[in-house]
Amino acid sequence: MSSELPKASGLHPDSLLAHGGGGHDAATGAVVPPIPTATTFVRDEDYEPVSPGHIYSRDDNALYRRTENLIASLEAGEDSRLFASGMAAVAAVARLVRPGGTLLVQSGIYWGTTLFLRKLCARNNVALIEADATDLQAFLDEISVTKPALVWLEVPSNPFLQVADIQKISARCKQAGAVLCVDATAATPLIIKPLALGADLVMHSATKALNGHSDLLGGVVSTGDAASEAWQAIIEERKLAGAVLGSFETWLLLRGLRTLALRVERMNTNAQAVADFLDAHPKVETVLYPGIASHPQHALARSQMQGGFGSLMSVQIKGGRDAALKVAGALDLFQRATSLGGTESLVEHRYTIEGEGSGIPENLLRLSIGIEHSADLIGDLDQALAGI
Ligand code: PLP
Repeated sequence: MSSELPKASGLHPDSLLAHGGGGHDAATGAVVPPIPTATTFVRDEDYEPVSPGHIYSRDDNALYRRTENLIASLEAGEDSRLFASGMAAVAAVARLVRPGGTLLVQSGIYWGTTLFLRKLCARNNVALIEADATDLQAFLDEISVTKPALVWLEVPSNPFLQVADIQKISARCKQAGAVLCVDATAATPLIIKPLALGADLVMHSATKALNGHSDLLGGVVSTGDAASEAWQAIIEERKLAGAVLGSFETWLLLRGLRTLALRVERMNTNAQAVADFLDAHPKVETVLYPGIASHPQHALARSQMQGGFGSLMSVQIKGGRDAALKVAGALDLFQRATSLGGTESLVEHRYTIEGEGSGIPENLLRLSIGIEHSADLIGDLDQALAGI
């Protein structure tokens, strides 16, 4: 058990994060919590748990609860649950839809989510509708007409960086009796708080910026209403289906979270500088980043996002697939790898990964901007673009 932070509820997220969401370990005075390795916990002579809430580690342990409480407070939510990966978190939410029901998902989002939902829905007799959430009126009409059990948004979307209007979509979901879940992985809870904008659930791949060091897989779902039927089903899903995060990964995640505010601040300024540079470059066709004025949902992004626009962007290179691959191949500081949200900047030619059916343009490079010096990132892009 850890001691409480002074006036914890009034602290800024930066301060909560810096202390890993709690004070020192009450038993030893340690300023970081131990890694609970035990899978099972004893009961006393009257068969009561010796430590309340400690029965079996698939249900809960003190480190999960501390980390989940910290993330719930960042989200301005009531409760959170950690999962073994972002996709395990997506699966737990998607299974809310019963056979015969309808799931409405934003089109053009993370391909892994789209692919999983297509397969899950086909297997389980769930009608899956994929629709462009930036065509707001059509998307709202879709909700009213099809009355989905679940609506899934990704804000901003990966890799197109589209920004859906969470407030308007959540209002329509409430009218239609739909649960709204927003995957806000590319933004982090410091930039966008979907629960405060009316969403029922918010999901993150903790593999990305929450951890920030490209060294664990994890996922998290949070709610604004812990008593809701949907939340109770998700808790049960985590406990019974068992896609829990390991204690060591949870400990790493909590360590990563300590620097989240600093990392997000630097990634925001770096990404904006890189996007502005690319936007003005003659060999660049388009920059997809909500922080540039020409982005089609720039005004909406400004009203929904705080402190910046995140670390993810895509850029379309003039000259097609070969030119894009040449730029990727010539980058020195950016590492050619998938994923996002780590301290190191990454570049990815997503078409190579996702293939023809994905709708990804062949000249698109996705950039995940890290915490390096912005001049080094811009210099690297400049020399790579000079070669085409
Ligand atoms: N959601 C988004 C937006 C992602 O980018 C990813 C992974 O890239 C996921 C979910 C899946 O997360 P994970 O890889 O942790 O399973």
